[in-house]
Amino acid sequence: MDEREFFEERTEQKVHMLVCPHCSQENEYQVNWLVRRKRQQPPRGADDLTRAKFAKASSYMVRRDDVLGCKNIRCRKRFEVTSLQSVAEINDTKVAHGADREARLRAAFGRRSQG
Ligand SMILES: [Zn+2]
Repeated sequence: MDEREFFEERTEQKVHMLVCPHCSQENEYQVNWLVRRKRQQPPRGADDLTRAKFAKASSYMVRRDDVLGCKNIRCRKRFEVTSLQSVAEINDTKVAHGADREARLRAAFGRRSQG
């Protein structure tokens, strides 16, 4: 099963303060990220292995923009985005570690114990 099915995928623009290495000027830049948010449930028909993989998976985002054009009109040079990670974790997941374990048990033993 394709692990992409674990995630809701969409492109988001985020604003970052970045410094151009040519002119050292700091500006706000809109950077495109491919955001993969983990779904609430594993894919339908998932086997045990897939469920285990799903339990371990967490939301993350992949940077789409590698090169940006400097906003300083006297510079305008293109520079590589080195100050941002190319893959970043998303910390806004609501699942804490304890809950994660519970979810994994539920995934392994069915959901009947959940009143
Ligand atoms: Zn510049």
